[in-house]
Amino acid sequence: SLETRDLSAWFGDHKVLERVSLTMAPGEVTALIGPSGCGKSTYLRILNRMHEMVKSAQLAGQVLLDGADIYSPGRRPADIRARVGMVFQRPNPFPAMSIYDNVVSGLKLAGIRANKARRDELVETSLTQAGLWIEVRNRLRAPGGALSGGQQQRLCIARSLAVEPDVLLMDEPCSALDPTSTRRVEETIADLRGRLTIVIVTHNMQQAARVSQSCAFFLATHDTPGRIVEAGPTRQLFEDPQDERTSDYVNGRF
Ligand code: ATP
Ligand code: MG
Repeated sequence: SLETRDLSAWFGDHKVLERVSLTMAPGEVTALIGPSGCGKSTYLRILNRMHEMVKSAQLAGQVLLDGADIYSPGRRPADIRARVGMVFQRPNPFPAMSIYDNVVSGLKLAGIRANKARRDELVETSLTQAGLWIEVRNRLRAPGGALSGGQQQRLCIARSLAVEPDVLLMDEPCSALDPTSTRRVEETIADLRGRLTIVIVTHNMQQAARVSQSCAFFLATHDTPGRIVEAGPTRQLFEDPQDERTSDYVNGRF
């Protein structure tokens, strides 16, 4: 499982997260919701050690992946990123690189070596899981940039899945997509459920309700850093919220 304990984060003197404790259950989809600027993307980036790529970034607290802190001395960011994949808001395949090589690039970035037969197998499996195989199986040598925006996002999901990660982080993966492509990505998320831990940031409350089993509502104010107001089963946050601010937010009164 993936868990943070009393996780706080700063950019220089600016504290952006305050004592965030959350457990993301294996095989479940956890949605992170909350207004712009409350620290959702920062939180996600901490979960795969991308946060430290910002020079002024600092952390306190723990991030436990299967019980072991991913920030323990001696653990390498590249090893963590091989187990914890990330998909971004804007699809970012390598546009000139073939569809096939885009998927394989996920392996290379994670330092995983695989022979041709194994690569072929991983490409087919991950494109199938991402719901793209049937569309691209006859043109794996076409450039990634030749795909539609929605297909590019599914290609990025396949690239993340190629390393067979334990966790997939998705930061507003559908906000640049049309409704049909959004639906396809949501179907992919539903299919992946049970196989790995998924954490998705979304501003779309209907999407959070459709895809997630657990939900965490983050909130920051002008003088308080982002923190979790309420976390629990998605149905509870949407139908029986324990905090009035959660109710206001999920009902669009914010
Ligand atoms: P949105 O919904 O708009 O994507 P968010 O919840 O993802 O917002 P973050 O992007 O995590 O919010 O930002 C949280 C806070 O951290 C904001 O005050 C932001 O200005 C600050 N911040 C984010 N990235 C950096 C950075 N690289 N350097 C300095 N401050 C940053
Ligand atoms: Mg964000």
